[in-house]
Amino acid sequence: MRAMQFRDLASQYEHLKPEIDAAVLGVLGSGNYIGGKHVRDLEERLADYVGVRNCVTCANGTDALQLSLMAWGIGEGSAVFVPDFTFFSSGEVVPVVGATPVFVDVDARTYNLDPIRLQEAIEYVCKNTNLTPRAVVSVDLYGLPADYPAIKEICAKNNLLLLEDGAQGFGGSIGNSRACSFGDISTTSFFPAKPLGCYGDGGAVFTNDDGAAEVIRSLAVHGKGVMKYDNIRIGMNSRLDAVQAAILKVKLNAFVASELSNVSNVARRYSENLREFAKERKIELPYIPDGYQSSWAQYTIQLPNDVDRQVLIEGLKDIDIPTMVYYPKPMHEQKAFFDECVLADDCHITEKLCERVLSLPIGPYLHVGDVDYVCESLEKLLR
Ligand SMILES: *Cc1c(COP(=O)(O)O)cnc(C)c1O
Repeated sequence: MRAMQFRDLASQYEHLKPEIDAAVLGVLGSGNYIGGKHVRDLEERLADYVGVRNCVTCANGTDALQLSLMAWGIGEGSAVFVPDFTFFSSGEVVPVVGATPVFVDVDARTYNLDPIRLQEAIEYVCKNTNLTPRAVVSVDLYGLPADYPAIKEICAKNNLLLLEDGAQGFGGSIGNSRACSFGDISTTSFFPAKPLGCYGDGGAVFTNDDGAAEVIRSLAVHGKGVMKYDNIRIGMNSRLDAVQAAILKVKLNAFVASELSNVSNVARRYSENLREFAKERKIELPYIPDGYQSSWAQYTIQLPNDVDRQVLIEGLKDIDIPTMVYYPKPMHEQKAFFDECVLADDCHITEKLCERVLSLPIGPYLHVGDVDYVCESLEKLLR
């Protein structure tokens, strides 16, 4: 038997192998490797699943964010608000287009953008800088949609565009609304370890704004006009390969049919197993507000102050349990942002999370026995 994986992509392939192999070989034999029918089919099905009018695929989740900011014409002199606790990309794309990221602390329970701190940061920027607030990047961290009811209200009140970074959120929901439908534009990533992953890099943009979708289609292919060799704006080369689209069509079926519910069951088992012990030992388990559904990109716990996280990680590793720290550093402490960002206020919650979070193995193909083993081992090592 293979050792426990942090996210078991090989098991998924074993389950889907006949269909995926056929899909890949079909593309190889077709002679069409960029764009084409698989990409168009996939975009249609993704838009349908998410519940928006347009889906435009691209080369990766980072490009999806950048293309969105470019489509809005956000550049120099613009402030873009980004959670301090996220993957680097969410903020990286802001200086790439010439704008300034303003890092905002997150909520202590959901770890997502804190709407109260967002409003304060907007006011700070207006009072203390020459920047014009233009947009908010909200991240659906670990798969949990951000607090969109509150964030949308703040965006409307302050005339800001909302960009949902759903790289981890695809498959999550609030009530009947799916993740990647909450932003004026929303994005996702098909990096292999994301909730819906391909076998390389891939990404997508979702929007109900037909005009924005058309501009993004153009920007993703060198700013094409009516055809590829008519260039009407400066763009980039950011496309999803036909092979990846064909793979994603197979994977989307499995995601909808069973994977999302399987991964939710794994998460539920973790939470049930750990509930009593977590209370006793002051460990925070993932918090999912009423009406919200996570896609469980990660199952992340928060350790109490008296636990040496590194010792625990080594202890788990010694008994073949892989874990990860997402993320060890606040955005505002990344060297790349030192001269590039605004910090309206301290980000104490983020700083604490970076020291205390630990992500456990998760995925739709993780065995119940493995979940139980992880939980028992955690209890043993922390008692
Ligand atoms: C993975 C990720 C991205 C970037 O996606 P890529 O496809 O790797 O470029 C952006 N934002 C968040 C929150 C992510 O987790």
